[in-house]
Amino acid sequence: MASLFGSCEKNPQRSTRNVKGIVFMVADGMSHGVLTMAENFSRIVHGKGTRWWELINDPKSTRGLMETSSANSYVTDSAAASSAWGGGMKINNNSVNVRPDGTESIPIHRHLKKLGHRTGLVTTTTITHATPAGFAAVTHNRQDEHLIAPQYLGVVDILLGGGMKFFDPKQRPDSRDWLSPYQKSGYDILLDRDSLLNSKSQQVLGLFNDSHLPYEVDRINSAGLQSKTPTLAEMSEFALRHFLKADEKFLLQIEGGKIDHAAHLNDAAGLMWEQLAFDSALEKVLEMTANRDDILVVVTSDHGNANPGINGTGKNYTKTNEAFKSLTHMTASYESIINQWKKAPDNEQNLASLIEEKLGFKMSAEESTALHSSITTGKAIEWSDQLDNPNGLLGQFAGNHTGVGWTGVSHTSDPTMISAIGPQAQRFSGIVPNQRVHQDFIELLT
Ligand SMILES: [Zn+2]
Repeated sequence: MASLFGSCEKNPQRSTRNVKGIVFMVADGMSHGVLTMAENFSRIVHGKGTRWWELINDPKSTRGLMETSSANSYVTDSAAASSAWGGGMKINNNSVNVRPDGTESIPIHRHLKKLGHRTGLVTTTTITHATPAGFAAVTHNRQDEHLIAPQYLGVVDILLGGGMKFFDPKQRPDSRDWLSPYQKSGYDILLDRDSLLNSKSQQVLGLFNDSHLPYEVDRINSAGLQSKTPTLAEMSEFALRHFLKADEKFLLQIEGGKIDHAAHLNDAAGLMWEQLAFDSALEKVLEMTANRDDILVVVTSDHGNANPGINGTGKNYTKTNEAFKSLTHMTASYESIINQWKKAPDNEQNLASLIEEKLGFKMSAEESTALHSSITTGKAIEWSDQLDNPNGLLGQFAGNHTGVGWTGVSHTSDPTMISAIGPQAQRFSGIVPNQRVHQDFIELLT
């Protein structure tokens, strides 16, 4: 595949001087349409556009397309994609740094740690999820997050995200305690937003939920979640502040991991708020590095997902903007709506009422019956296999009001956006095969 998209040969003209650190930001599962939708959404809710949009237009930045296929599919999963960046080779989906022949790649954070550099992983998913894992862990099956949890010890200095259940002896399948070993090695264990904001530690394991962090749309609508959960921007600021102060070189990966989750659910409002949370983190990182000439910032995504976009609605598309604006009235993620409904008596009316209350539109009687049937019986009622599930149906029903359409509920093969700014940013322009990022990072930091 690499020969189709470009050579990986080393270019002797590329100077690696002056790179003290790299911030690698991943909007997981971000299709191109998300960028446009987020630009419109941000102008409505924040009265200004997104930082990524501005970065693309900055003459000092470079831009290109990230080629994302895995060894065994045009469509990658996050494990193979992050392993390409972290381990330098295209591998099969579902593996983390294990090649198709069974041999293992050395993840980049392990390599850099041996050289005395500093390393970090920040995410809104479990810290042991595929994208962070690709930089620091090796496992045949990405689902074995309890096997990934111990692998960060002594390899990654700053770990911030969710995933307490993979460290906590009361929740692990083998009942082993992995919190104490981290603590004994000098890691500060942080469990909520306040402890993060007050921590001065150089080594941190921040686990702010048992599983993934909550959706941003749920966090901003819940005082309880806001006091417990730091934002992606706050976690990013914490990690980067430590690395900028330290003498050593560093590589920090920051992931907006639930952009991907919202896209799988065809949850357009959820997706928009996740993308804006990621954009706030990008804004913070660019602000903190603006006066530095030794920090490279690279922003990209590992793959597209469900390819959402705004379809024009109304005669001459004049209802388009108004329809899209209705997304801003949605106050809960699909996940939290379905979870809330499951706790109430199982009936169709409760489901329809909850959707009207949280999403602001009334389903037709047919839509309501179809959605209820899909959730409770899994009955086929839709021509597309991709959309024949509760998420695909609810995405389409909401789309009748918002104008947002989806191609399915899974990852896609499209190349993703890549933008870079700082020393050596030009390496990340044109078409960039995902495994080449690894080689560039190694050259720049060693
Ligand atoms: Zn995904």
